[in-house]
This record gives sequence, C-alpha cells and structure tokens, in this order.
Amino acid sequence: MEKRCSCGHTMSIRLRTVIFSNKVKIDNVPIYSCVRCDRSEVLQDVKQELSELIRQLGRNPESQHIPFQETNELAFLLFEATKKERAHTPVEQIVKDRVNELLDLLLLAQSLGDEPWSNEIRERLSQIAKGSIAT
Ligand SMILES: [Zn+2]
Repeated sequence: MEKRCSCGHTMSIRLRTVIFSNKVKIDNVPIYSCVRCDRSEVLQDVKQELSELIRQLGRNPESQHIPFQETNELAFLLFEATKKERAHTPVEQIVKDRVNELLDLLLLAQSLGDEPWSNEIRERLSQIAKGSIAT
C-alpha cells in the first residue's frame, strides 16, 4: 500500500476532503501523501470513480457535501479502517467482513429479483477486487 514519492520519501495513504469548484466538498477521498514535501495524489484505483463523480456534477455544481465512501468501496474500507473502534482490526479482516456483507446483500437482492440493486452490489464487489488493499 506504500508508494515512493518523487522526492524519495515514502508516501502513505490518507483520507482527505477534496474541494471542487469552491462549492463541492468530497469527503474521504483516498490519496497518497508525502510528509516531507507535502505532495499528494489520488489513488489510481479511485481516480476513475472520482472523475466520473466530478463529471456528473457538471460545470456549475450546487454547494454540496459528498461522502465519497458511500460511492466507492475502497474509500469505504479505508474509512472503516480508520475508525477508532476498528483501529486494531487488520485491514484484511475489514475487507473480508465487507465482502461477506456484500455477498449476503447480493443473495438478498437476487432472491427479491431486484436486478438494479444486484448490479450495484456486483459493481461494489468489483471495486474491492481491483483495489490494491484486497490483493
Ligand atoms: Zn515527497
């Protein structure tokens, strides 16, 4: 989960609020940040979802607050991992719990014949699968 900064220092993952167009606050966006030179960049795995979200907001968005962890699984898992009560739980365990939870939901959605919901859960599962912390 670590990445090397161009200054040579190790970058670590943080959740940061990204402000877009001075109006939209997007909370809990996973970024890499360097403590030495203050450089930061959005995690590769969430770049696509983040740019999609910004694209949907359009050119003149209203003032709003978006919890990124509700639209992106990787952000959700990091958000869970940084909660105080889970501070001593290994990230792998948090990932495993979340996958089990999603699989239960998928079973429920399928038995209700709710196709859009099933698809949404599948999408969330695939976000975990391509996330670097799940591997
Ligand atoms: Zn640096």
